[in-house]
Order: sequence, then C-alpha cells, then structure tokens
Amino acid sequence: MEEEKRKNGAGNLIVLFPFMAQGHLNPFLDLARHLASRTPSLTITIVSTPSNILTLRPRFLSFPTINFVDLPPFQNPKNAENTDALPSLFAISAFYQSSESLKPSFHRLISQLTQSNGGAPPICIISDMFLGFTVDVAHSFGSLHVPLYTSGPYAMSIYNSIWTHLPHRLTCADVLTLPDLPPNITIHGTQLSDNMIKAAASSNYSKDSPTFAARQAEYCRKSDGSLWNTVEVLEKWSLENWAKSSGKPVWAIGPLLPISSKEFERGGKTPGISPVKCAEWLNLHPPKSVVYVSFGSQNSIPLDQMMELAKGLEESEKGFIWVLRNPTGFDVGDEFRSEWLPEGFEERMREKVKGLLVRNWAPQMEILSHGSTGAFLSHCGWNSVLESLSRGVPMIGWPLGSEQFYNSKLLEEELGVCVEMARGVDAKIRAGDVAETVRLVLESEKGEEIRRRAEELEEEMKRAVVEVDGLKGSSVRALDDFVETLMMWGQ
Ligand code: UDP
Repeated sequence: MEEEKRKNGAGNLIVLFPFMAQGHLNPFLDLARHLASRTPSLTITIVSTPSNILTLRPRFLSFPTINFVDLPPFQNPKNAENTDALPSLFAISAFYQSSESLKPSFHRLISQLTQSNGGAPPICIISDMFLGFTVDVAHSFGSLHVPLYTSGPYAMSIYNSIWTHLPHRLTCADVLTLPDLPPNITIHGTQLSDNMIKAAASSNYSKDSPTFAARQAEYCRKSDGSLWNTVEVLEKWSLENWAKSSGKPVWAIGPLLPISSKEFERGGKTPGISPVKCAEWLNLHPPKSVVYVSFGSQNSIPLDQMMELAKGLEESEKGFIWVLRNPTGFDVGDEFRSEWLPEGFEERMREKVKGLLVRNWAPQMEILSHGSTGAFLSHCGWNSVLESLSRGVPMIGWPLGSEQFYNSKLLEEELGVCVEMARGVDAKIRAGDVAETVRLVLESEKGEEIRRRAEELEEEMKRAVVEVDGLKGSSVRALDDFVETLMMWGQ
C-alpha cells in the first residue's frame, strides 16, 4: 500500500541522514548541494538533531529545495548531539553505539514526512554508513535505501571484512588474509584498531552479539546500492569488487569537499588562526617546502610521541604548520600546557619563522591549497586524504585508528602518494624518524616521485567532476546515473 501511495504521490522527496560528526556531515552537505543544483525537482530533507540543524541551516539559505527537520536528541552517556562535544575517543565510541536508539523516532519522522508529502514516502533515504538501522525504516515505507560511504571502498572492504569475520584470534605479530579479499591484501596485527584487537582476542566473542561495526556492515548489505565519497581513478578495482560482491550498483561521486574553512566555522569550529594570517605565514616560505601536520577532528597522539614529533620537526629544519590538540588521556576541553612540548619550542619556532603552532583547529583546505605546502603529515582520515590529493599534496601517514590504517595502505601501496611514518597510538617514533621522513618526502628523489604522482591524481580528480565538450567526468556520470535511478523509482 505504501508503495502505491509513493507511486501516486506528490513531491520527489529525498531524505539525507548524516552521522553527527564533523567528518561525516560535510560530505552529506556537499552531496545535498550537488543534488539540489543538478535536479531542482527533488525536495531534499536533511535530518539531524536540533543543535546540528541550528548550525547547518544557515549554510543553505540560498537553496530553496533543501529543508531541515529535527529528530529529538537521543540518550547517550554524555547527552551530546555531535561528536565534537565529546572529550575522548571512548566517549565517541559510546555515542556511536547509542545512536541506534534513534530508530523509533526516525521511523516516526518518516511517517510524518510522508503524510505532509501527500502520502508519498521519500523516494530514497540516503543515510550515513553508520546509521544502518535506517535500511529497515526505508524499506518499510517502500523507499530506496542507499548509504553514503564517507570512506573509500578499498578501506571499507578490509574494515568490514575484519569485523564480519571475527574472531581472528590475532596477536600484533600476526598477518591476516581475509576471505572476501584477494590474497595479496594482507593485514598486519598492527593495522587493527584497539577495539578490533579486543574483540578479536575476546574468548567470549559471539556471532550472536555482533559489534556495532559488524552490525552496520550487515544492515548495509540490505541496501539498494551505495554512494561513495571517492573518485573512480583512486579505487577502480575496489569499486568494481564492491559492486560484484554486493550485486548492487555503486556510484563514486567524489570528491565531496568542504568549500572552505568557513564551512566549519559555521559549524562552530573556530580556527586557531585566520586563513589570511595562515597565508601570510606560508607566503614567507618557498614553494612546496612546508609540512602540514594534523590528526583530524577527533584523534590525538600520546604525550611522549608529541615530544618526539616536536623534536623531529625541529631537527628536519623544514617549515611546518602543526594543529595542536591535547595529547591522548587529556580532556579535549583542557587548556593546552606548554610543558607538553620541548622547552622553548614554540618561541624558537616563532622567532625562526620555522613552525606555526595552531591550537585545536586550522583552516585545512586553505593550507593544502597554498603553493608553499609540500606534504601533509596526517592520520589519514578519508576527508583529509581527499582534500590533500585534490590539491596534489603528497602525504606522510600516521594512521591512528579504525579504517585509517587501510587508507594509509591504499595511499602508499596502491597509489604511491604516501610514506607511512608510524602506525597506531602505540607507535614509538623517535625524533630522528620524523626528521628523516619529512626530508625524504620534501627533498629526495623518492619525494619527487610521489609528488609527481600526487599531482597527476589532482588533475585526474579535477577531470572527474567536470563535463567538457559533452564528455562527462566519472563522478558526474555516476551522479547522473544515481539521479536517473531515483527518478525511475519515483515514477
Ligand atoms: N579539519 C579542519 N581543520 C582541522 C582539523 C580538521 O578543517 O584543524 C577538517 C578537515 O579538513 C576534514 C575534517 O576536518 O574535512 C576531518 O575529517 P577526516 O576524515 O580527515 O578525519 P576525522 O576527523 O573524521 O578523523
């Protein structure tokens, strides 16, 4: 009956439900913009909790077909509405788990939207990959369900496979071959995040009580296809493999990027330095000579590693911009203490114009777009990866958790645009390793090679999102195809 209503129904309604975390919200917002500009006949409704909506709405005032609706905030240990407000990765993980309690209110909300849409349910619910429960809600209304993966298929194939085939009884020294992947893709024990190791080692692990991540993989298997914030040229094989193993269409529509740091400012992230001041500092440095250091919006490194990183950057004698977050074990809200860095470090770096230390948040897109930036030392979060490659900046990898290990692997082994310097929060890097890697990437012949490759990918990524003389780039084609599928379903 719902299906009939949908078919006879009024508006072409699409619902977008992003996860409430910085790195997940932005790709959704960019997708909403693309869909709204490309297909004005779609009504796009973005669902989130009230405080998120408050910051999101002002960004879309010029898009009349994009609406926002509130879900009631949900019970979680810190009663937060966004991971930004949370003090530690532990709290973030608890927030993810408890987000599943949103299911009944999401169901009610779709029912209300359907009523106010003349009885026609949404054509499609596009949810975050971590809001897998939405698949059952979508199907109960006769709507399509398509997750938008805010990570790439190479990493997600490995990540999902590890979670799905638990327990592995791995120790850090073991090498793992996964049943769903070719034998050449092996995973080392050091490429498992802490919670994976715990789950893998746990003797009472049971298939009947799957972990949050395994549950999401299971849910998304029931979806009607998948959207990916990636570009075909980066992961062609993995996309094809995902399509083959899922038996459903895949659409690689990336890179979905923030337009500028203003995007984050509106979302409440005030940079520790303005883009203009940052550019003034970068202007003092030769082209491609500065390394940008940032571990994303959630991660940080232990205190002893912070010390070694500082000493190593100084030893490299290269210019750097470093986004300082409190070391692991300290609340993100605590004030940064000068004793966390070598004595006199900040003053020395300032006087020599060698290092710019930025507290908490930097205008990343602007830094990566500046001609003086020569490398990005990163935790390899997927947004950071796409932002760096879209600006032709090679990477120095220090993956810290979840699928970041496989992003780093992809970048180094498959794409040749990265040197992995360290792995995991338990890495024991020494200052000398840091200095050596930074010089390798900024100065050596190998560094030249990976830069060339990064610049080639930048060009290819630009081509993916444009249409020239009737020739559509791969991401334009994919988005067209996706919209066509929606329209056919909505008829
Ligand atoms: N970001 C930023 N300034 C910072 C730190 C992060 O603008 O100082 C942005 C970055 O540009 C990216 C996002 O925050 O868009 C981080 O996403 P990513 O997937 O790289 O990592 P996550 O934070 O999800 O681990």
